[in-house]
Amino acid sequence: MDTFDFESRIIDIPDYPEPGVVFKDITPLFDDAEALRAVVDAICEHFSDAGITKVVGAEARGFMVGAPVAYRLGCGFVPARKPGKLPREVYSESYSLEYGTDELQIHRDALTPGDRVLLVDDLVATGGTAVATARLVEQSGASVAGFAFILELSFLNPREVIARDYPQDVFTLVKVS
Ligand code: IMP
Repeated sequence: MDTFDFESRIIDIPDYPEPGVVFKDITPLFDDAEALRAVVDAICEHFSDAGITKVVGAEARGFMVGAPVAYRLGCGFVPARKPGKLPREVYSESYSLEYGTDELQIHRDALTPGDRVLLVDDLVATGGTAVATARLVEQSGASVAGFAFILELSFLNPREVIARDYPQDVFTLVKVS
């Protein structure tokens, strides 16, 4: 399991979604049973003794990683969604994108103060999504126990951005430098 070659399954898509951007397509890690199991197992083994009680994943690929991780850790899963998608009272966090801002929300009753939360997503680039999601956890009174990503774009220094507010463990399966 430790030797699973995650990197070779990720496909670079040049000039997508716009010229100059190299999009990392991680869907081959989900459509293959062995790869999907390796992703979920690696994250769960790393955090098996961390006392995680809830997993939070950001829309939309964070749902794909987060739900099976929550199942295997024996936790609930909480979706952090774009505005207007959750039907009940929410906490909201805005965050900066390269151009403009975006916002994520979670249901107010999804987390409780005793929860130790693992935040997951497919990819961390600038770290903005991860920090916004962590702030939602804090708004709920719960604590951030760690972060897990399949892919880390190290050259954008997301660890520095996350560490400014969250010294917790950041675990990634593949680093692109
Ligand atoms: P950040 O907020 O800059 O760290 O960007 C991370 C978010 O953008 C994650 O939710 C990713 O799903 C998404 N994202 C950014 N770039 C890519 C990519 O190349 N492939 C897949 N998702 C990406």
